Amino acid sequence: MFKKILVANRGEIALRIQRACRELGIKAVMVYSEADREAKYVKLAEEAVCIGPAQSALSYLNMPAIISAAEVTDSEAIHPGYGFLSENADFAERVEKSGFQFIGPTPESIRIMGDKVSAKQAMIKAGVPCVPGSEGELPDDPVQIRRIAKAVGYPVIIKAAGGGGGRGMRVVHTEAALINAVAMTKAEAGAAFGNPAVYMEKYLQNPRHIEIQILADKHKNVVYLGERDCSMQRRHQKILEEAPAPGIARKLIERVGERCVAACKKIGYRGAGTFEFLYEDGEFYFIEMNTRVQVEHPVTEMITGVDIVKTQIMVAAGERLPFTQRQIEIRGHAIECRVNAEDPYKFIPSPGRVTMWHAPGGPGVRVDSHVYTNYFVPPNYDSMIGKIIVHGDTREQALARMRTALGETVVEGINTNIALHRELMVDAKFMAGGTNIHYLEEWLGQHKR
Ligand code: ADP
Repeated sequence: MFKKILVANRGEIALRIQRACRELGIKAVMVYSEADREAKYVKLAEEAVCIGPAQSALSYLNMPAIISAAEVTDSEAIHPGYGFLSENADFAERVEKSGFQFIGPTPESIRIMGDKVSAKQAMIKAGVPCVPGSEGELPDDPVQIRRIAKAVGYPVIIKAAGGGGGRGMRVVHTEAALINAVAMTKAEAGAAFGNPAVYMEKYLQNPRHIEIQILADKHKNVVYLGERDCSMQRRHQKILEEAPAPGIARKLIERVGERCVAACKKIGYRGAGTFEFLYEDGEFYFIEMNTRVQVEHPVTEMITGVDIVKTQIMVAAGERLPFTQRQIEIRGHAIECRVNAEDPYKFIPSPGRVTMWHAPGGPGVRVDSHVYTNYFVPPNYDSMIGKIIVHGDTREQALARMRTALGETVVEGINTNIALHRELMVDAKFMAGGTNIHYLEEWLGQHKR
């Protein structure tokens, strides 16, 4: 097992990885930007290295600074967390070339899955069901583009091969709007992701977003840890997640889970990963794979008892998965609410000094957050400042626990979206379960203030 790991991230996930290291008896080296100097996980770290100024490009995305920090601290491995460099194949390659273990899949796996076109092609080959669409990248010829759209059937969605974070997508309802939409998406994709390639998919009208968590070791053992329902989204961004997905037959999940496991074996995948699907009328359609730990991993941890971050570290060190598929049992129901520093209805970011932070507690309640009273939320990064996760024997109990937990939570000095979560937890349709990816935006439209 490693003696020392460098954590190349910030905020709640940096703290989450630090905690996993402590439990495993591993020293965690924290890196920080000048804006995160006062963070408690930095102060409490055995070792911490400043890697640059507040701007991500000069710190958390600064590959040479991070690799030098690993060198000067004698770290053996680098955990990238999520976001930042976690899905950057060049970074993974540089980490390994510098003699460190990258805690994640191989650079080749990241590269294949990072390009949504090659990811889909790999999945089709591995027998994973995909959203119908163009065979690979769209050509330049308008005649051919029109022909493909006609075959797929309107409405279609144009998506950037290199897209992520809910950006680089455009829905097209009519042939008249098609060519212009392709050109615009291409231009945006080139500017935002450095890759103008786009592809086309059938635009599913009322799907749910269901994803499968997998874990794989370096010895070809792969398991899936059930599913998560992440349909509550705004602008393609998840705001709360739950597991299991309400109302989907276990048998169906098992079938898809087994296909994901087979695909991982086929591509020699290792580490943690998530297969994202759209689910409509009883069918699953693959949309993309995330080759890293996800924000919403705790709901899976709560219902399976598996520590995903510790397992990531163990398998990176070459250990075998400590469980088989048959030993994975789904117990009860878990819900996660993302706490964002933003206006709950207008979504304007609200960084600044947290003058009061009181986290909830009690049975089945977990809070993953680096925030404390008097913590300053820097304006430079993502607005998510923590997650409240609850577990119950049933979905009803989990909902009741989340209501209680949100009721106990006090955050002063900045705005947060907790008020929105409180309303959603008593919304009749959400409480009934199975809302689709448009539900939250429709709800927001009806609850304008
Ligand atoms: P990103 O990598 O930016 O998150 P995804 O491909 O995972 O992009 O898609 C994000 C979200 O966009 C999905 O959860 C879904 O809400 C919507 N979406 C993507 N593809 C489709 C599609 N073919 N039909 C309908 N909605 C889609």
